[in-house]
Amino acid sequence: MKLLLATVACTAPLLAQFHFDPEQSRWTLSNGRIQAVFQLTPLSTFEFQSLRDLRNGDAWLAPMGVPTSPIRLRLDDRFYGAQTLFRLVDHSVAAIPGGQRQTILLEDSHATALFRLDLELYADQPVLRTSLRVRNLQSRPARVRLADMLPLNLDGAGETFLAFRVTQWNILYSAGEFQPQQTTLKPDGPAFQVLSGARGRHCGWLAVRDESRRGLFAGWEFDGRAAASVSQVSPMDYVRFSAQVQNLNHPLQPGQEFQVPPAFLGLFRGDWDEAGYRTQSFVEAVLAKPAPDPDRFPYVGWDSWGYLTNLHEDTLRREAELAARLGIELFIVDLGWARSMGDWYADPKKFPSGLRALSDYVHSLGMKFGLHFTIAEAVPDSPVLRDNPDWTSSEQYFYHGAVSLCLSHQPVKEWVIEQAVRIIDDYGVDWILQDGENMVKECTKTTHTHDPLDSNYSNAVHGLNAVIAEIQRRRPQVHWENCENGGNMMTFNMVRFYVTSITNDASGALGARRGVFGATYPFSPRYTDRYMPEQRLDTYTTRSYMFGGPWLFMNRLTEMQPDDLALAASEVQLYQSLRSRIRNGKVFHLSAWPDEDRIEAIQSYDAASDTAVAFVTRHDSDDNSYTLRLRGLRARGNYLVRFEGFPSTLTMTGAQLLSEGVLIPLPLPRTTEIIHAEPLQ
Ligand SMILES: [Zn+2]
Repeated sequence: MKLLLATVACTAPLLAQFHFDPEQSRWTLSNGRIQAVFQLTPLSTFEFQSLRDLRNGDAWLAPMGVPTSPIRLRLDDRFYGAQTLFRLVDHSVAAIPGGQRQTILLEDSHATALFRLDLELYADQPVLRTSLRVRNLQSRPARVRLADMLPLNLDGAGETFLAFRVTQWNILYSAGEFQPQQTTLKPDGPAFQVLSGARGRHCGWLAVRDESRRGLFAGWEFDGRAAASVSQVSPMDYVRFSAQVQNLNHPLQPGQEFQVPPAFLGLFRGDWDEAGYRTQSFVEAVLAKPAPDPDRFPYVGWDSWGYLTNLHEDTLRREAELAARLGIELFIVDLGWARSMGDWYADPKKFPSGLRALSDYVHSLGMKFGLHFTIAEAVPDSPVLRDNPDWTSSEQYFYHGAVSLCLSHQPVKEWVIEQAVRIIDDYGVDWILQDGENMVKECTKTTHTHDPLDSNYSNAVHGLNAVIAEIQRRRPQVHWENCENGGNMMTFNMVRFYVTSITNDASGALGARRGVFGATYPFSPRYTDRYMPEQRLDTYTTRSYMFGGPWLFMNRLTEMQPDDLALAASEVQLYQSLRSRIRNGKVFHLSAWPDEDRIEAIQSYDAASDTAVAFVTRHDSDDNSYTLRLRGLRARGNYLVRFEGFPSTLTMTGAQLLSEGVLIPLPLPRTTEIIHAEPLQ
């Protein structure tokens, strides 16, 4: 028996743990970490029953008397949910990479719709991923008017709940970017809202926990606008979750199928750092585009925006030489390389030798070549818009004088794909810096191939996502960076296409730290790249950009002082020595969100090497020292503690580092100290 279990564990760790009880019509799904139970009840409703953490016994149950179903959807005026009567058509289990999928096919009792529900569990992840598709069985067209990605009610169990979200970068609401926000849910009080997707206010993620730190997090895989919420309802005492695709009006011909964007629901016990870490571990294992270069990622990069659009190949060659000497690994030519946005050929006045020659030169220096590309923007007098004036979306977002293209209009889609593939081939592109303003355009044009009333879903799924998927299918070696004037589409669909994302866009040292601080709750550190525009460097500046994903210089290296260049070179080396640990580690947010008048601290703990690294930063605070209490370390371990700013070292036990802490002197405003704790053998 032991041998059999071991064999099963090696080949298909989950295979034996999905169970169907035919008498009860009940599915019990487990990966050894969590257990989820669903049932086709004797009344013929299809219901969620429970989600349990098998390690600590935490249980989240369907509320008594308030049935909850993973189906919450409306076709025209017909609502499908916990009251709908279903017939089981079929069900099956299949192995998927890293996990196992239960598929359940249900038809409603009026035979109007067929639902295909996929429930996925992955090895060692306390997360249930759900995906729902609906087929129109009627003989006439219907419209999907409501689709809930997070249809869930849970028993409140007499508890008080805290809810947590993080804002994203938004040019419309520039104050408070990537700010963590926590609220106590009040019974029958206002819903705690998360407005996510392109140009939304928040990252597409939320977490909830009760006073005993029993917690639950959720993310949804949709780049268009979504309105999620959690609220506590009395007197039945249940917690109601929802995450709806906004302005949904999707036409469905007879026999056609609609995919509700998938979502995931995970369990944690602890604080928001733990919620974030569980989310990140799942996303890195299951959803995220793999990092391009495990030994060297996140890269150090250089970006040409220090010159704005005043580019010339001679200058860029000199910049590339200096960049390579500094240890920079990725060289990005930003906006301005093309004849115009929409006329995607290198400007011959700026590149008399051709852009390919510059790209070859960058490659010869050992760097990757990146190019800025506005996938859904073109200037009004570009040839493409002169020839096709109707290709614009009905709403305009005016990115640097451009107008917006509708990516869900079929001819636009085909044209953009062709342009991208040609650019990649002609210019030897390794990296695309995607940019623009609002990647999911609103378009109500009746002359386009999409339905005029279905803009949000259509421009996200059949527009942006379909275009990038096709470019990536044709040119899989190219890596994409998510940017739209900043991290303005921070979703768990974004991570499937891009290897990193900008957070704040060149908004200075404090802004960079704020972006990373907030974004590293839902997103792993590699999804927080930062652009450093400063010409004069000190370690406060460089280290404000050092924690997180790719670190991108956005200054004029050729105009820097020799001592600044020397500092840059040594700081690049320091970053490169830290990056893999920070990429793989758990982020601890040791202080509140960075602000001018407080000392802030952020830490990464890498369990594999049992090492911690912390950044402590004083902006303009009056305090001149900080007591750093590290987290994650083994209380009984012995650690060597060292500092980047001064040569002395300390030997301390884990318990001391966790409770008493280390006093970090920060004698002057605008200073940063980096503290390392490494195990002593
Ligand atoms: Zn359109």
